[in-house]
Amino acid sequence: MMFNTLGLPAPLVQAVRAAGWTDPTTIQGKAIPVILQGNDLIGNAPSGSGKTGAFLLPGFARLLDGPQKLRALVLTPTREHAAQVETHARDFARFTELRVGMVHTAAPIANQEKMFRDQGVDVLVATVDRLLELHERKALDFEDVEILVLDEADRMVDMGQATDIRKLLKLLPETRQTLLFSATMPAELNRLAKEALIEPVRVDLTSPQPSAGITHAIYQVPKHLKIQLLDRLLSRSGEVRSTIVFTRQREGADRLARQLERLKYAVATLHERKSQTERERAMEDLKRGRLQIVVTTDLAARGLELAGVAHVVNFDVPPTPEDYVHRIGRAGRPDAQGDAFTLMAPEEQRHLAAIERFVGRAIPRVMLPDFDYQLKPSQL
Ligand code: AMP
Repeated sequence: MMFNTLGLPAPLVQAVRAAGWTDPTTIQGKAIPVILQGNDLIGNAPSGSGKTGAFLLPGFARLLDGPQKLRALVLTPTREHAAQVETHARDFARFTELRVGMVHTAAPIANQEKMFRDQGVDVLVATVDRLLELHERKALDFEDVEILVLDEADRMVDMGQATDIRKLLKLLPETRQTLLFSATMPAELNRLAKEALIEPVRVDLTSPQPSAGITHAIYQVPKHLKIQLLDRLLSRSGEVRSTIVFTRQREGADRLARQLERLKYAVATLHERKSQTERERAMEDLKRGRLQIVVTTDLAARGLELAGVAHVVNFDVPPTPEDYVHRIGRAGRPDAQGDAFTLMAPEEQRHLAAIERFVGRAIPRVMLPDFDYQLKPSQL
């Protein structure tokens, strides 16, 4: 399939070509025609699947040739993600008259008010807190909004933004088109979706395949041997790099990081108490190779961009299937290979059944040859 057969207007096909994209990804091929027809849509797709293009391109197509007013809102969970979406939006708007803007709480509100006063914006990428603040200050109104996108909606709900989103929904025209993208659909998000969307078309890429191009494996191992097995798994590929290790509890993350440090790995922990900037810096160090391993909990990894991380290790079996898909679905790239290893002690087996039901297939069990699974705690 090619971009020009999807029904996109010439300036957008030109922008896509300028970005170096040749073929649409699966989510783009499925979602673009549905959105062009004006339908509401729920797209279940993780980062890395190309979902940003899947909503921006047809969204822009529907806005071309219209009046210059605030006509599309793209909500993202974090400022970091907003910046990524905005970059794509600017690229796609290159050969059009559309004006793209971004607002979040990390930049001064006065500058943002000035942007609306002096230039105007057609497509606004925003975090919901600042968007509502600007509305309260009468810097903008939502009367002409035709399209609302909720991007990474599960992360928004996870970060406690559902109340603000509901507030916003009340302020938007009911005639708008609403597009919701999310890697997972927890119950609270399903409720929100029912309130926000009308007869949505569903495009689901997460199940049964949580993320294509990623090899999944379960290593069954007694709890007291997990660190030894992890060391062997890491060192067996020769060069250890770009690895993120998830543990359930913060204390567990600290302990594990200390043990890995003793084994001479360049490792850092992401702490719930560390600032967003510090956590982003650690991820950057990981991607650039200054760190080999980052140890984190689900909570600390919230709001961080994991795309581009090559190896995900679950040191514990994630407590819910959504956590599993979330951790793994956010790593990797559409064109890259990654792997996702889960270390499972016998007592954790019960969580796995739910995960396999959710992803719709069995995850292979793997044994590491030459590893002594019989070692007793006293022999370590
Ligand atoms: P996303 O899931 O939207 O965050 O996209 C993940 C990455 O894939 C981004 O770096 C995009 O630039 C890239 N990408 C998205 N769609 C395509 C495409 N059709 N062809 C090539 N790269 C793409």
